[in-house]
Order: sequence, then C-alpha cells, then structure tokens
Amino acid sequence: MDLTNIKTIKDIAVRFGFVFKKGLGQNFLTDYSVLEETVDAAEIENCVLEIGPGFGVLTDALARTGKKVVSVEVDERLLPVLEYTLADYDNVKVINRDILKTDITALISEEFSNTPISIAANLPYYITTPIITALLEARLPVNNMVFMVQKEVAERIAAKKGRDAGAISLFCQYFAEPEYIMTVPAASFYPPPKVDSAVLRLKMLDKPRVLVKDEKLLFQVIRASFAQRRKTLANGLSSGLGMEKADINAILNECGFSETVRGEALTLEDFAVISDKIYDVKRGA
Ligand code: SAM
Repeated sequence: MDLTNIKTIKDIAVRFGFVFKKGLGQNFLTDYSVLEETVDAAEIENCVLEIGPGFGVLTDALARTGKKVVSVEVDERLLPVLEYTLADYDNVKVINRDILKTDITALISEEFSNTPISIAANLPYYITTPIITALLEARLPVNNMVFMVQKEVAERIAAKKGRDAGAISLFCQYFAEPEYIMTVPAASFYPPPKVDSAVLRLKMLDKPRVLVKDEKLLFQVIRASFAQRRKTLANGLSSGLGMEKADINAILNECGFSETVRGEALTLEDFAVISDKIYDVKRGA
C-alpha cells in the first residue's frame, strides 16, 4: 500500500469515515523521498520510537528496516486505520496515548529495556517546543532524534546564535548537534498545512556541550533571557531570577557583556559563563 499517494489517503479516509483534525496537526506526508531521508537520518541501530503515526506512512518506512517500532498516537480514531495499514508488520506496536502526558522514560525502559534508540516524528506544530524540550531534559537513552517541524523552527534550532536563536535552540545545542536535513514544502502533505516544514536531526552528544556549575540554573537563565523577547537580557534575568537589576548589570559587565545585550546575541558558551557567575553571586562566592 503506497501511503504517500493522495488517492490512497483519501480512500482510507472514506473507508474509515476519518475526518482530519486540524487541532491535532493531522497533515500527512505524501513525499516518498522525505521518508527515505528521515529514516536514513534516524540511523536506527536498535529500535525506534515514533510520535504521531497518523495513517502510518512514516511508521511503515521505519518498520521496513526490520527494527522494533513503537508508535504513540493520541487520536484513538486512528487505531483501526493503523491496524489496517500496518497489518504486514509484526515489529510495530501502536500505543494510544498523548505523548505530552506520557512518562517517556518509563515507556522507553518498558519497551526497549534502555538500549539506545532513535526517535522519529512528523510533529504536530503545537507540540514541537514542549515535546523536544521534554525529550532532551529527560536524558533518555537516545542516539538520534529526527523531527519534521515548521521550517522556521528548524532554522531557528539549527542557528548557533543571532536573531533566529531562541531558548529551544540553546537547549538543543546543549544536548545535541542540530542539523537541518531538508526543506519539505507545504504541498508535500495532505491536507497541505499553511507553512513549509523541514526535517531536523538532533544527534545526541555523549556529554553536554558546555560544563556548568548548576545545570538547572543554566536552563533557568536561558528561559528567563528569552521569556520576553523585546526586553534586554538584564531585564529578563532580573524578573525571571528575582534578582536586582544592578546585580545583573554588574554580572554582565564582569562577564564582558554590555548591559543592553540581548539573548539573541549570545552563544551557549556565553550563557554558561553568565550562569556560573550568577551561581557564584547567589552563593556569595
Ligand atoms: N506520521 C504521519 C505522517 O507523517 O504523515 C502523521 C503526522 S501528523 C503531522 C501528526 C500526528 O500526531 C497525527 O496523527 C496526530 O493525531 C498525532 N498527535 C497529535 N498530538 C499528539 C500527541 N499529543 N501525542 C501523540 N500523537 C499526537
């Protein structure tokens, strides 16, 4: 069954009385070459976790590798569809759950006994940032994560610094090597979404890119710096960390940054220096 074929998708929708839900990001991939690139980029060594199988187009491509595939889908209307489209495989397990409400660490240990896995997903846009952040912060036994995301988000995550960088970009760089794999135009989906997408790979690093005195504080500093994009870093940090603006300004000066610097202008390494200085000041060192 060619699940990239729009006629096949329409036939399945009619057969199962399936109506696409915009709110769940149900735009299904119709480009075979994107599937190939995604599977290659996932470099599956052992098993793979998929988020949001839809009608199973990517699940099918992942299952063809012969590796175990566990796929988490929130929409229970898709269960009979997936039973039909994936009937040929005995290496696929579909779990009906909301990935945002799932203990992913427990799921991975139950399903894969903690062997390093790959994660692959054509993500609904509304969960991109929360799910990527949760997957990274959980420090899972994962080699590679490959995501289809909104093109602008992939560009922002792959950017090292500058106006495109944001908190999510820095989190990704802390844990992984982000790589922009390919652009996928809106016309490569059915029904087509409003914006273009891109495949993004996060190759997990053996250890975080920078070493800091307090990792939680680094994340807090990054979040506070980008929480209010129009504010300067000093304002964001002062309100986010509950510190006096004068103290923040002194810290920025000591670290060699201007008081008016913006988060977008700093690299992960810069944030590590600032976070360590804040740590020292808070501890009275
Ligand atoms: N993998 C398919 C493809 O590439 O054509 C479908 C991708 S579609 C963009 C996103 C899928 O994620 C939909 O099947 C949707 O129902 C599912 N989904 C949305 N929110 C979810 C959540 N919170 N947890 C699990 N799956 C979710």
